Amino acid sequence: MPAPLQKIETNQALPDSVDTVVIGGGIVGAFAAYYLARRGLKVALLEKGRVGAEQSSRNWGWCRQQNRDARELPIATKSLELWERFAAETGEDTGFRRCGLLYLSNNEAELEGWARWRDFARTAGVTTHMLDSAQASERGRASGRVWKGGVFSPSDGTADPSQAAPAVARAIIALGGSVHQDCAARGIETTAGRLSAVVTEKGTIRTPVAIMAGGAWASSFCRQIGIRFPQASIRSSILSVSAGAADLPDALHTAEVSITRRGDGGHTLAISGRGRVDPTPQQFRFANQFLPMFLRRWRSLAPGSAQGWRSGHETLARWRLDAPTPMERMRILDPAPDRSTIALTHQRACALLPSLTKTSITAAWAGYIDSTPDGVPGIGEMDSVPGFILAAGFSGHGFGIGPGAGHVIADLVTGAAPLVDPRPYHPERFKGTAWGKVADF
Ligand SMILES: Cc1cc2nc3c(=O)[nH]c(=O)nc-3n(C[C@H](O)[C@H](O)[C@H](O)COP(=O)(O)OP(=O)(O)OC[C@H]3O[C@@H](n4cnc5c(N)ncnc54)[C@H](O)[C@@H]3O)c2cc1C
Repeated sequence: MPAPLQKIETNQALPDSVDTVVIGGGIVGAFAAYYLARRGLKVALLEKGRVGAEQSSRNWGWCRQQNRDARELPIATKSLELWERFAAETGEDTGFRRCGLLYLSNNEAELEGWARWRDFARTAGVTTHMLDSAQASERGRASGRVWKGGVFSPSDGTADPSQAAPAVARAIIALGGSVHQDCAARGIETTAGRLSAVVTEKGTIRTPVAIMAGGAWASSFCRQIGIRFPQASIRSSILSVSAGAADLPDALHTAEVSITRRGDGGHTLAISGRGRVDPTPQQFRFANQFLPMFLRRWRSLAPGSAQGWRSGHETLARWRLDAPTPMERMRILDPAPDRSTIALTHQRACALLPSLTKTSITAAWAGYIDSTPDGVPGIGEMDSVPGFILAAGFSGHGFGIGPGAGHVIADLVTGAAPLVDPRPYHPERFKGTAWGKVADF
């Protein structure tokens, strides 16, 4: 069964011209279009499949500051405020709650790392509590185990991946923006070197600005217009179980397994960081740039299958604007989950939290996590194509920081004072080396 997702009705007829076209109806594109529409701009959001159907509905739903890299902490903090504000502004429910995140460990080195992060976070005004053994064991009492220690971050939270992007899309429509599903952007047109239109499978929209928020498809799209964006995807497998397990923490991370309460009372189970590398043409192209990341993370990665090659999101092919493209052949990137990981995750979760044995598996799925070489997203206008703004490579953190990313993008488009300093995210940095810069936590 695929990841649960709310379905929404969207606009059919394309506008002839708008102020901004946003390509990609994941959480990042949806929030970017929402903040632009709030500022009175005429916006069209294009989604080749269903809003939210790729990474944005397949994730754990964590919206966290805890253990964030210094470059991402400011946008993570602001995003938590924006998740709350969005509900107040629109009356839409993304399932966001500041439930706090709990981390438990028996590993001294891991606990020391969390304590170092706590010290750093204090300097940024973020409060997080280290737990001694008694406190950690009490908070983790559902496991019936004694823990050496842990950390609890009370101001962090979770939102519901099955309803968040659709809720934002409804808010865009309520503000007068248009949202188009089953509508792939095939490319762009330029006039005198500036972006002047977006070409879709259903027609051309004139616009001075386009935002590429296409998640795992961003690099192959950029290649069509001569932009080199190093991006690679890891297949991560995950499952959900029914309601029925009592007294579990809302969101718990351990090295063995992590769990998250879902909006329907069930839980999502996953093993942090574990993934499969499905070889693709693009991965070979950017292999050198991803070496620092790979050396850091190789212990949790395993070789994958040919499905990544077949699905076409990381193709090196050039396509025409007047014929179907790989995006139309693969409306929703829905990789097969890794069965052995699903079985291991379920087994570990039931061993850690025995009340989960009273539940049953309701769904299992996988998602391609789109990463950059340093594990920090690429957000910024590309010098070579004025008017073209890239916003992709969210490296496993994009759901939680989706509101902040969308706000920053709207700031770039309108020239408003930015929500946070956008310079650490500018894609021009990928021209340099990633050695020594891979996100720490
Ligand atoms: C298993 C898993 C667990 C995760 N856990 C977390 C977590 O707990 N917290 C967190 O913050 N992040 C998490 N992430 C990462 C997070 O889900 C992503 O970073 C985030 O959803 C990326 O959002 P996005 O909008 O950039 O991309 P996506 O959600 O992938 O959306 C991109 C959209 O663009 C569309 N598109 C692409 N090209 C075109 C085109 N040419 N025309 C029209 N449409 C196009 C696609 O169809 C897609 O719907 C997790 C990811 C996975 C897979």
